[in-house]
Amino acid sequence: EGQVGRIVKALSGYYYVLPLEAEMDSKPIQCRARGIFRKNDESPLVGDLVRYERTENGEGAVNSILPRISELIRPQVANIDLAVLVFSVTEPALNLQLLDKFLVHIEHAGIDAVLCLSKQDLTEEGKGSEEARQSMEEVLRIYQPIGYDVLVTSSRQGEGTSALLERLKGHLAVFAGQSGVGKSSLLNALVPGLTLETNAISNRLGRGKHTTRHVELINIGGSYVADTPGFSQLDFAELGIEELGSCFREMRELSSDCKFRGCTHTHEPDCAVLRAVAAGEIAATRHDNYVLFLAEMKEKKRRY
Ligand code: GDP
Ligand code: ZN
Repeated sequence: EGQVGRIVKALSGYYYVLPLEAEMDSKPIQCRARGIFRKNDESPLVGDLVRYERTENGEGAVNSILPRISELIRPQVANIDLAVLVFSVTEPALNLQLLDKFLVHIEHAGIDAVLCLSKQDLTEEGKGSEEARQSMEEVLRIYQPIGYDVLVTSSRQGEGTSALLERLKGHLAVFAGQSGVGKSSLLNALVPGLTLETNAISNRLGRGKHTTRHVELINIGGSYVADTPGFSQLDFAELGIEELGSCFREMRELSSDCKFRGCTHTHEPDCAVLRAVAAGEIAATRHDNYVLFLAEMKEKKRRY
């Protein structure tokens, strides 16, 4: 029963619902959840599509939740279908291990990803560094051929922001990346009127470690983005060791050519993945990180 809308914010027992197809500047409807939720031990999340109806007091009531396509644990948002992974070309230095870790979780969750290389201005001749240029080339060389979109941006110079906006269209996106890579600056550059605090250090001092921010979705004409760029981890459901290989897309495609079923692509004879690594068709850093994550997962399993 009722109309369909999207929860964009949850606060003090209220859910703020935007009707589908809402204009960019529409005000969300303040809603209570019907008692049925408490009984079923089911609670609406930011990002949920819900059925709601208007009530006499000018507010609304959420009647039911439509099926979720994904559920991110931190920040707690439902129905995310695109992750924007922000990595700066320098300051902080590019961390491919972290990038591959993010991609593992995203592949596992079945979500689409865009790699965003920020601070492009720091690669420019004269002003940038050699390290920054190499990092940019490395990401383009490794990740584009395996099918990830890589966008190069500079919030400082407005570079790449319209391409990113275009890529976000029709999606509910979340930004992730280490602190200091420029996530807040990028969101501010994308969303008219948004003024997220930038510079991670002052954030940390100002808010204190234990302050939790309430996630809110920003409607930017045809797409939504979560306004919580402060987190550097994406926590989806737990990943099993045997699933790791399938989270590296270029290995997943080859694994049916391995001689042994359940091949771990680490030491087995006649392994199609190891062959491709030796031939330079799979980037060495990708396979190294795979081996590292596998060892980490085994160690964790041994200890618990
Ligand atoms: P966050 O922690 O990922 O949200 O990063 P911030 O947006 O707070 O930015 C961290 C630092 O990087 C700040 O000092 C910004 O001024 C700087 N920064 C952000 N974007 C750019 C950019 O495009 N170019 C350059 N040179 N610096 C940037
Ligand atoms: Zn193999």
